[in-house]
Amino acid sequence: MRWALVGASTIAAQYMIPAIRAHEGAEILRVVSGSAERGRAYADQHGIAGSGTDLGEALGDARVDAVYISTTNEKHLAQAMAAIEAGKHLICEKPLAMSVADAVSMVRAAEAAGLVFATNHHLRCSGSHRAIRDLIASGRIGRVLSLRLFHAVHLPAHLQGWRITSAEAGGGVIPDITVHDADVARFLTGEDPQTVVAQMASSGMGQGVEDLAMSVWTMPSGAMVMSHESFTHPFAGSGLEAHGTEGSIFARGVMTQQPVGEIELVTASGREAVPYDSYDLYEKGVAEFAAAVGGEGKPAADGQDGVKSLAVALAVREAARSGARQTVNYGGIE
Ligand code: NDP
Repeated sequence: MRWALVGASTIAAQYMIPAIRAHEGAEILRVVSGSAERGRAYADQHGIAGSGTDLGEALGDARVDAVYISTTNEKHLAQAMAAIEAGKHLICEKPLAMSVADAVSMVRAAEAAGLVFATNHHLRCSGSHRAIRDLIASGRIGRVLSLRLFHAVHLPAHLQGWRITSAEAGGGVIPDITVHDADVARFLTGEDPQTVVAQMASSGMGQGVEDLAMSVWTMPSGAMVMSHESFTHPFAGSGLEAHGTEGSIFARGVMTQQPVGEIELVTASGREAVPYDSYDLYEKGVAEFAAAVGGEGKPAADGQDGVKSLAVALAVREAARSGARQTVNYGGIE
């Protein structure tokens, strides 16, 4: 599979370029940046042959099979629509867009064109989350009563740019992290949140955008989800708990980009450590995307998943802004 990168980003440099290259026969042909100079420097640094500022030219390259979009969030819509129009399969970063309607239009366009569209929700690719999902699906904790998601981190200095200063670029902890947590809750329970209540704040980093959010979501089954995200918590650690009628799962350190963390299952029989497969989360996502392009299965998180995680995140923000409970609007996506 031959790739074009749209966005000379940190996430591509740190995780996605190695993840793409881990697959036999994969090649990154070019990178598109807003700045010719920056694009060239990035291409040199990462051993990519081509660079430039012209998205149309990159998409017109008939050798390119797939596109990975990792620009700032407000750019995803136009870039994804152009990639789809050019007939390219794509992995788009989360949040897919700035509104549910825009995300729906991207996903519908890819469907109509018969293209594979993936959303880069890496957490559902991890061995730990898949082990927790399997425990829940196999009934080990009985009927799920509640989930607690702990995802309050400290944003590293090199990422303290648009995320904390620019609402226009899609900054704020809700589009950045709550959107991942929405996907985790959906992945683990197989349910879509129905209503949300929330509060948000700026606790030291956010300039015009929230850097701390807490929310509670109700699921169609009656289960509840409590979700906590931040950019300002140096020592909180991350994790999740799933509580059911027959057991509880305690997972620490698992809301991360690395294949790390511990999982414990507690039932009437006692406590047991839960083993899980350890591998690179992003490589797994790229592998499942490539398989889907080859006609096997679906991407780990597809376009519908990306719309739904965005819908929950935007409902959380609106609930926090208005102080009123919100019904999540999935924009007609089932
Ligand atoms: P970056 O800030 O690193 O990159 C975003 C854009 O900013 C780039 O496309 C680039 O523009 C520009 N840029 C980057 N570094 C510099 C620099 N040093 N000087 C000037 N401009 C720069 O963002 P991230 O990589 O953190 O995030 C990009 C996207 O990926 C977002 O949508 C984010 O939500 C998502 N993301 C997803 C993750 C996941 O695990 N799924 C994890 C992290 C981010 P240009 O291309 O024009 O050169």
